[in-house]
This record gives sequence, C-alpha cells and structure tokens, in this order.
Amino acid sequence: MKLGFNQATTLENSNLATDLELCERHGYDYIEIRTMDKLPEYLEQYSLQRLSAYFQENHIKPYALNALVYFNNRSEDEYQQLLKEFKQMLEYAKELQVPYIVVVPLVTKEKILKKDIKASSVAVLHELAELAAPYGVKLAVEFVGHPDCTINTFEQAYDIVQKVDNPNVGLVLDCFHFHAMNSSIEALRQADISKVFILHMDDTEDFPIGSLVDEDRVWPGQGVIDLEGILSVLKESGFDGPATVELFRPEYYEMKAEDVIKKAKETTAEVVSKYL
Ligand code: ZN
Repeated sequence: MKLGFNQATTLENSNLATDLELCERHGYDYIEIRTMDKLPEYLEQYSLQRLSAYFQENHIKPYALNALVYFNNRSEDEYQQLLKEFKQMLEYAKELQVPYIVVVPLVTKEKILKKDIKASSVAVLHELAELAAPYGVKLAVEFVGHPDCTINTFEQAYDIVQKVDNPNVGLVLDCFHFHAMNSSIEALRQADISKVFILHMDDTEDFPIGSLVDEDRVWPGQGVIDLEGILSVLKESGFDGPATVELFRPEYYEMKAEDVIKKAKETTAEVVSKYL
C-alpha cells in the first residue's frame, strides 16, 4: 500500500516546502499539491524548476493538483476564467509530472435540476479532458458530501463520469464525502473501480447527514465512517491506488506540523493496511 498526503491536513500550520520535507522524512510516497494557495505561496520564494528537481531527487512524488473549483454550471465569463486557471494547472502538471488534476463541482444555494447539472458537467469534462490529453493528465471529479454541492453523492458522480466515458476522466473517492451524504456502498460495489483515480482517507464526528462539514473530520479510524465497508469493497474490486490522508481539522492546525504528519500517517496506515 502506498500512502499520500493532501496539504489540507496542515493547511494552517505548514507550507509546501515544509510539507515536502516532513512527508519525505516520514515515508509518504505521494503528495497532493494545493494550487489555490500552497503552490503560489511556494512560487513567491522558489521556482517551479526547483520543485521539479526536488521530486526528481527524492522519494516523494506529486500525485494530484488540488483543485479546479467549481467546474460545472458556470456563466460564460466564469467559464473562461476557469479555463484560464485550468491551462495554468496543466503547465504546472507538465513541469512537475503530476498525473491527476482534481476538479470540484459547483457549490451553490441555487437549486439546479439534476439533468442540467449532468449536461453541464459532461460537456465541461469533455472539453477539459480534451485540453488535458496532450499533457497526459487525467481528471478526477471530487463529489462533495454537502447539500449545497451540485454533485454530492458517489452515485451521481459515477453516473456523470460513466456518461463522459473517457479513460482520462474518473473520480475522487473521499470517504468523508461518501459518508456525509449517505452514498451507497452497494453502488460502490457495482461500480467499475478503475474509475476511482484517487482515494481520500479521513473519518468524521457523528453529526447528522447533511450537516457535516470538512472541519468535522478526524484521524482515520477515530470516527464513525464505515471505512471497513468502503475499504473491503475497494479490496474486492482490486483497487491498487495510494491512500491519501486529507483532514481539515482546526484542532490539528494547532499542533506542530510534524506531529500532524506523523499521526496522519500512523492512523491512515493502521486502517488501510488491513485492506490495501
Ligand atoms: Zn477530498
């Protein structure tokens, strides 16, 4: 089993250079880089070439860029802005040899019909995949387990990705988001697991479905998500990707970054090693 680290886990108590050094020291295989804040912050001080060289000289490798938000049901102006951002991400991905870009659906209070969400998502994903193909970059759609997210269950996200039907377009399976809107384990069992490009590991406090937010996340194995259920399905289906820990807990931002990175690895490995 390979282990990945998502930078949200130390969002407020570290930076990219420190995350890399600590993740390398503690034996992580991959890192997911945040392009919305941590990478620009790094580039104020260092060059992209330096980052690329770091990955060549060390064990840790970049797995994904996080994230292109919000990709579907945008106005024309917003969409042009999104494309601009996406093209910049593709350049980063090329220089750093990052295989995946995570794309996040629109979060809004506005009610949009599921058919309109699907139509927009499929069209946008087709276009993004076409732009990404020459770069050898794949897209991973991360459904968000919150009522305000336009794609908020595994079933809905899987249906869209199936409709896109492109080998370079798949999903992020984030256990928190899976739990948070009651996605179906049975649907996961029926799914083509090769469509799960990225696995985000986490756990959560026991708040009702529909009220959970990222800050409720806790160390893997210390909350109420049926991780055993999810991971046994992944195992049966032959999932062989890395398990990437991704937490957003303010309490953990009060800790030393190294303690978080160590504890995140221990708790993730303990839960995941029985299955993957
Ligand atoms: Zn996630």
